Amino acid sequence: MKYISTRGRAPELTFEEAMLTGLARDGGLYVPADIPTLSGDEIAALANQPYEEVAFRIMRPFIGDTFSDDEFRGIIARAYAGFEHASRAPLVQLGPGHFLLELFHGPTLAFKDFAMQLIGQLFEASLTRSGDRVTIVGATSGDTGSAAIEAFRGLDAVDVFILFPHGRVSEVQRRQMTTPAETNVHALSVTGHFDDCQARVKDMFNDFAFRDEVRLAGVNSINWARVLAQVVYYFTSAVALGAPHRKVGFTVPTGNFGDIFAGYIARRMGLPIDRLVVATNQNDILHRCLTTGRYLPEGVIPSISPSMDIQVSSNFERVLFEAYDRDGAAVAQLMDELKAGGFTVSQGALERLQDLFLSGRASEEETGATIRRLRETAGETLCPHSAVGVKVAEEHLDPGVPMITLATAHPAKFPDAVEAATGARPGLPPHMADLFDRDERVTRVENDLAEIEHFIRENIAN
Ligand SMILES: *Cc1c(COP(=O)(O)O)cnc(C)c1O
Repeated sequence: MKYISTRGRAPELTFEEAMLTGLARDGGLYVPADIPTLSGDEIAALANQPYEEVAFRIMRPFIGDTFSDDEFRGIIARAYAGFEHASRAPLVQLGPGHFLLELFHGPTLAFKDFAMQLIGQLFEASLTRSGDRVTIVGATSGDTGSAAIEAFRGLDAVDVFILFPHGRVSEVQRRQMTTPAETNVHALSVTGHFDDCQARVKDMFNDFAFRDEVRLAGVNSINWARVLAQVVYYFTSAVALGAPHRKVGFTVPTGNFGDIFAGYIARRMGLPIDRLVVATNQNDILHRCLTTGRYLPEGVIPSISPSMDIQVSSNFERVLFEAYDRDGAAVAQLMDELKAGGFTVSQGALERLQDLFLSGRASEEETGATIRRLRETAGETLCPHSAVGVKVAEEHLDPGVPMITLATAHPAKFPDAVEAATGARPGLPPHMADLFDRDERVTRVENDLAEIEHFIRENIAN
């Protein structure tokens, strides 16, 4: 299996190389050269299998000969052993034809653990074999960073530097990043927004001298291995509701377009997904683009669902690549226009995008009201991101087709928003009950490439 860049001008890589590289050298993102498909019988045979077994069958065709079957099974087993729920991703029913897929039973209480725990094990296996070291940099709106630090802390062959926007992550998110004592992980609090953090990470990848000097590796949602890990729970949940004999819909609270892009891949692999709904908060650039074809960043307005406070949605590039029939030059052109302020999708590409995705947005008031209402009607306490999803899903219910909304974080990760909506403060699960008593270690930096690179150079282990 080969991986190609969405901008068409970087070398083809293997799965292992694409995983360790992150961003392609032409600025693009890696995608598989072909997308394998499963037959109806193969999908049906996933029913009632353990999560790890489904994960193996879904991901195996994408990893080529990077790992033997036994190695890969071991990696998957270790990745999900720390989850608190035996089914890893349980489904609960919210109402007629509407289900919630709880993706928050991993160690840092957000769906990011599904991908990051796997990536930690993949990196460890690959680097142990090669004897190499890498420096991982990542930008986070809160959950990626905590999941990455949790997955990589204490591993020998990696140093991890996570950039998060100062004052714009929840206290639980911040403490999950700043309290691990292992010295190979570093949390950097950057003056600015998430988009600034993400831009500095991209700058580091485009500074080839620095990139090679510190052997930079990326674990942001641009990393293909993360998308791949997320494809799995689309299969487990759809099959639990009767796929492939029955169609299902999914609604996905969306920021960087990684999670919903995994749903698109699941559909390309043969899962009968009838509708794939993009749900955004008031930072609704994706909803506007899918409606009008114009992608015009307007500046982030902080919301109660901060992990989706994003205007430059990096994985959207992957779906543009598909909508433009894999024309890398056309995608490179759009991304140049984006640097100059924004772009307009061609009519043909927009029609294709609209065939693939529905979309909707939830205001702050609607998000709070949804948290309050679902607690009363379903006994389910939603985090604000999941509430955005539920609200938008309700606008797209179809009596014949079950809808699955992805619950992307545990409510205790965003206690202020949940308490404001319901009057009750959600408590942390027992394994992190002492989070607020642990010591924090964090470095304050300006939104300045040279300063950030200097800190990294000074703090890598060799
Ligand atoms: C990261 C995140 C999202 C957005 O996911 P993308 O893959 O970036 O679209 C939504 N909700 C929560 C809780 C998250 O952490």
